[in-house]
Order: sequence, then structure tokens, then C-alpha cells
Amino acid sequence: MKEYHKKPRVLVTGGAGFLGSHLCAALLERGSEVICMDNLFTGSKQNIRPLMDNPNFEFIRHDVTVPLVCEVDEIFNLACPASPIHYQYNPVQTIRSSVIGAFNVLDLALQKNAKIFQASTSEVYGDPKVHPQTEDYWGNVNPVGSRSCYDEGKRCAETLIMDYHRQYGVKVKIARIFNTYGPRMHPQDGRVVSNFIVQALRNEPITVYGDGSQTRSFCYVDDLIDGFLRLMDSPDSLTGPVNLGNPVEFTIRELAEQVIQLTGSRSTLTFKNLPSDDPMQRKPNISRAQAELGWSPKVQLAAGLQKTIAYFDNLLA
Ligand code: NAD
Ligand code: UDP
Repeated sequence: MKEYHKKPRVLVTGGAGFLGSHLCAALLERGSEVICMDNLFTGSKQNIRPLMDNPNFEFIRHDVTVPLVCEVDEIFNLACPASPIHYQYNPVQTIRSSVIGAFNVLDLALQKNAKIFQASTSEVYGDPKVHPQTEDYWGNVNPVGSRSCYDEGKRCAETLIMDYHRQYGVKVKIARIFNTYGPRMHPQDGRVVSNFIVQALRNEPITVYGDGSQTRSFCYVDDLIDGFLRLMDSPDSLTGPVNLGNPVEFTIRELAEQVIQLTGSRSTLTFKNLPSDDPMQRKPNISRAQAELGWSPKVQLAAGLQKTIAYFDNLLA
């Protein structure tokens, strides 16, 4: 017999990471019970410390590659190292986390009749030949390169999600997340926003890879989490991938200049080699999210950077 319960019970894998900790906080705020599961590879207890006293919050230290059984109504699957430095540290474990992890959470969803949300990525588009990227673009991914453990792992997870939906009727959501930034990013994960802010606050040279003409579009974390919740709440008929990101595109050089200006830093730019398979441009087409979820990002880069700078300033003090 199904246990009686009032609040939706939500499992967040990777819940002690950057995005996961913001998601757990937002879910608690809307009255859910939250089980945060994380192996603490890149996440930390510090990120979820403010939630620990909440009676509706529970933390489980566990690896998503190992099956987990718990009573759940919804699952957000975020467990996977996300920055190039971290996902290339142990590439076999990275792809295992995406693929075996997807099997495990999908089997749990099937068993408990739970709805599942997969944190996918703009990296499924690889170095895109279509710009901006729409969800029906199949991508341009090197299957044997140094980023493949992440890109192909996430692509395979999307396949599994859709196959569990078609074959077993599991309710599924797929978010293709584009570069997102904000407080609680890992200061040493090598991602561009955290690197530039930390370097600027220390008045150290800002490391621009290549000539800085490559582009990215940066979404502030609060906007993204709003998109997560809207997607999870959307009608069951919306199963295919949905791009979530900010469509305003900047070159990496423009980002560096903006960070220097906002921090009042004495840092100068230093140019380093471009990493292999580094996409030259990336910008989401968010028409589907706008039409289906009524979602579009609201926080402009300068405002989001100011909040992120304040976080790192405090962290480094
Ligand atoms: P993060 O590294 O802060 O979070 C990932 C979390 O997963 C960490 O807490 C880590 O400890 C945990 N984890 C890793 N492997 C695990 C495993 N095997 N078992 C259990 N826990 C594990 O990164 P993030 O930016 O918060 O990313 C969260 C998710 O969103 C990831 O799946 C990532 O691929 C996706 N994503 C993020 C971005 C972004 O810009 N932040 C962009 C695209 C996709
Ligand atoms: N980048 C950079 N300097 C850094 C870190 C990153 O110029 O210190 C560049 C990187 O080469 C890429 C872009 O910034 O072109 C975004 O990198 P990030 O690792 O944040 O995300 P991703 O490559 O996954 O989009």
C-alpha cells in the first residue's frame, strides 16, 4: 500500500553542488520534502549548511552509480561533475555517473512511479554548426576527445530518458542547460566566471584562453532554477529536451573586461592556449522554453556578476 503523505517528496541527486544546493533551497521554499543525495566529489556540506536544520530536508552521502531505494514523487538528476577540470579528472567515473547514474534514477522512477528531470547540457551540441542552437539540432560532438566523457555521457543519458519514457511510460523532463553562474560556484573548478572573478579580486592576471573571441551566453542561477521548476511542473506531454539559458551572447574578452570593471581590479589580461575541442560559439534559442513554460531569464549579466562577486569576495576574505 502506498504510504500517505501530504508534501511532494523530491530527490535531488548532486544536491550539494552549485545548482543542486540552489534547487534544494527553492524546493523547500515551495513546501516540498527534499532528499539531497551527493557523493561530495565537487559539492560540499557548506553549500547546504543553511538547509540542514530544516525538518523537511535530509542529506544522504551516496554515489549515483550505486542503486538507491527511497520513497519519492519527483527526481531531479544533477549528479555529475560539470566543469572541464573536474569531469576530466576521472573521465571513466564521469561517464559512469551519467550513464549508470541515469539507469539507477530511471529504475527508481519506474519503481516508484515518480517523474524524473534530467540535467542535460548545451555540450550535447558540441562545437555547433547551427547558431543559435535549437533543440532539434543534433550537434557536432567529437566522440573520442577529452570532453567526450561528459558530452557523450550526457547524450546517452538523454537517450535512456527517452527510451524509459517510450518503453515504460516514465514521465520525463530534459533540460539542456547553458553556462550558468552565481554564488556557490566552486572557486577552483576552472570555469570562466569563477576564474575571472577570483583572479580579479586577487589582482592577478586574467587568463583568457585563445584570443577571447569565442562566445558564451551566461545565465544567472536564480533564473535557471525558476526554469527547472517550471519545466518539472509542465504538462506530461512535454517530454523532449528544452534549452534553458540566457540568449544574450558575450565574447570571453568582453566578460573579462566587465569583471575587471565591476571589481575595480588592477588585473590585466594574459592569453593562454585554447583547450582542445573548446566550442567557438554558444547561444541558446529559447523559443521552446518561452512558448511552453512562459520562461525567459530576467537577470542581466552586470547584476548577476555583482552578486557573484560579493559571494567570492566574502569567501576569499
Ligand atoms: P557541481 O559540480 O557543483 O554539481 C554536481 C554535483 O554532483 C556535485 O555536488 C557533485 O559532488 C555531485 N556528484 C558528482 N558525481 C556524483 C556521483 N557519482 N554521485 C553522486 N553525486 C555526484 O556542478 P553544477 O554546475 O551544479 O552542475 C549540476 C548539473 O547541471 C550537472 O549534471 C551538470 O552537468 C549540469 N549542468 C551545469 C551547467 C552549469 O553551467 N552550471 C551547465 C550545463 C549542465
Ligand atoms: N576560459 C577562459 N579562461 C578561463 C576559463 C575558461 O578563457 O580561465 C574560456 C574557455 O576556454 C571557454 C569559455 O571560457 O571558451 C567557457 O569556459 P567554461 O569552462 O566556463 O565553460 P564551457 O567551455 O564548458 O562552456
